[in-house]
Amino acid sequence: MARYKDSYCRLCRREGTKLYLKGDRCYGEKCAFVRKGYPPGEHGQGRQKVTEYGMQLREKQKARRIYGVFEKQFRRYFREADRRKGVTGETLLQLLESRLDNIVYRMGFARSRSEARQLVRHGHFTVNGRKVDIPSYQTRPGDVVAVRENSKNRPFFKELAEFRSAQGTVEWLEVDWENMAGKIVRLPSREELDVPITEHLIVEFYSR
Ligand code: SF4
Repeated sequence: MARYKDSYCRLCRREGTKLYLKGDRCYGEKCAFVRKGYPPGEHGQGRQKVTEYGMQLREKQKARRIYGVFEKQFRRYFREADRRKGVTGETLLQLLESRLDNIVYRMGFARSRSEARQLVRHGHFTVNGRKVDIPSYQTRPGDVVAVRENSKNRPFFKELAEFRSAQGTVEWLEVDWENMAGKIVRLPSREELDVPITEHLIVEFYSR
């Protein structure tokens, strides 16, 4: 399976915003975007003229990078959002937020989406009592996501308490830390999502 192998911080600098791709580090002074908040490369600090197309492209790339989705798969999400009733941009974000790796991250069982993806792949989670190791698995309201019994005693999951307070909790998920499980209460509304994305630009990008 294809995997992004370059520097994550470079992506934040390229998109001009913090994308929170590295867990703890993103919340501290070591964050590369805090130290060098300009695009990488030789001309990073020069003036750059951005066209309308450029803005749409950057917004789409930013969303892909936040959720760790490759182009082909992202296009599929867009097609599905476009097919469904409702506001396409908001539906697109809801589809991305419903991915199992994102839910694991939002529930506080991982410090970043990439870490969540790896944990899911290694089979540490169940959905409604059944083991699921597919990060893109589409969860639904009412689903219960839990750390597998065999994995609960791993030091990794016990050490997450501090990170949870930095990340905060979201209202559309109900999490029971003690039992290491959480329920998806409903789909999030746009106002409840803290992602720095202007989704209508993505809709315009694919509607050209
Ligand atoms: Fe982005 Fe996190 Fe790196 Fe900061 S530390 S630049 S938020 S990935």
